[in-house]
Amino acid sequence: MMRNLPAGQAEQVHRTGSGNDPGAALLISLIDCAGVTRGKTVPLARAPSAAASGLGASPSWALFCVDNAIAWIPSITPVGDHRLRADMNAALRLDERLTWAPAEVWEQEGGRAFWCARSLLRAQMVALAAEGIDVKSAGEIEFVLLPNGEAGETGWQAYGVGPLLDQEGFVTEVIESFERLGLGLEQFHSEYGDGQYELSLAPADPVAAMDKIALSRILLGRIARRHGCRVSLSPLPFAGGTGNGAHIHFSFTRNGEPLLAEGSGPHGITPEGGAMMGGIICHLPEMVGLLAPSILSPARLQPGRWAGAFACWGRENREAALRYCAANPGNPGGAHLEIKCVDPSANPYIAAATILAMARAGLEAGLALPPEVEADPAALSAEEREARQILPLGGDPQAILKRLEESPLARRWLDPQMLAALLAVRWHELERYGGQPLEDVTSALRFAWSV
Ligand code: GLU
Ligand code: MG
Repeated sequence: MMRNLPAGQAEQVHRTGSGNDPGAALLISLIDCAGVTRGKTVPLARAPSAAASGLGASPSWALFCVDNAIAWIPSITPVGDHRLRADMNAALRLDERLTWAPAEVWEQEGGRAFWCARSLLRAQMVALAAEGIDVKSAGEIEFVLLPNGEAGETGWQAYGVGPLLDQEGFVTEVIESFERLGLGLEQFHSEYGDGQYELSLAPADPVAAMDKIALSRILLGRIARRHGCRVSLSPLPFAGGTGNGAHIHFSFTRNGEPLLAEGSGPHGITPEGGAMMGGIICHLPEMVGLLAPSILSPARLQPGRWAGAFACWGRENREAALRYCAANPGNPGGAHLEIKCVDPSANPYIAAATILAMARAGLEAGLALPPEVEADPAALSAEEREARQILPLGGDPQAILKRLEESPLARRWLDPQMLAALLAVRWHELERYGGQPLEDVTSALRFAWSV
């Protein structure tokens, strides 16, 4: 069963798994290399077979693009078969008709297929655990809710109660269903941009936390449809509008002791915590193509958008890619990092795994915590930023992909085929939409990452 489920629901999931209810269906989903949610359904009675031998998927699924083109790489052809295996231990019964389970991707003969993002994240978690470090993670979802799929009237109030009441039926159904499913909804509010809302989820182990993000996207899509709306999870739903982030929070402990608090460094950050933060900051410029990877991502990843457009950290600094949130009575959950540059076009499992891989590289190299950036990095002069080695993360999308292509760390932690697939689907986006006016690209891709 999904971790953190109240006991009653755990039993419900178990009953679900027995397949006694012939009326029920099982939805098995994954998020692909282009950040798109794809999946299959089977009668619930077939859950044991979906878990054991899985459902067929051509290896070309690894290369599906936002427009459903296939960005072929030399090692993948139309010949072959992968298996989508339902992880019934993480299954959740959504209602009496539909059960959901995340899929892992297997080779026919056994062993994970190269593009199984969920198992890549688990491997990073296990590697940190082998070094004695426990990691907790939590996701946020920003989205734009569009009645009839259109932009609404203006008059939006950022964080306003009015927009919550405008969509009261949607809002209360989301809260009710997230609570019923035990997803640990922490808050749900109207955001800054027109039509934009945000919800945040409670911390869990990173795989469970990203499962919750994957399921939340499905639930939001499902509930929005019932209210005549569509959800946009595009990094930039409208040219000139506000971006959608997909911030991920992390905290680290060793033997139950926090690594981001109660230590000898600034704000109590321990040397190990500092090394992990140093690793993330130092590798972000080459890895941002896995965190904000789409053709629309650089348009969001700009100063003044609270998107964390610079590779640096600062306490409660919303313009830094790493916002350090100290432990205090206002943050009783303890010190943690919010990685703000991530957007919803990224595969969330790959984004979280990338962040952990960068943190581990920092630990391995024994990096020191870089100096804190206490101001808005965009307010510093270009010379000052250069002197302090504060690098911008946005910019030319081709340059972002080139840096990823040439990144020694990406080659080290990612299977070469997986890196090739992740790059191929994004090069396709640049070829297909590059050079078009931003209005056209935002409109073509407004629902590309929606469920
Ligand atoms: N919408 C902003 C983004 O694109 C984030 C705003 C916030 O800090 O919540 O990341
Ligand atoms: Mg927000």
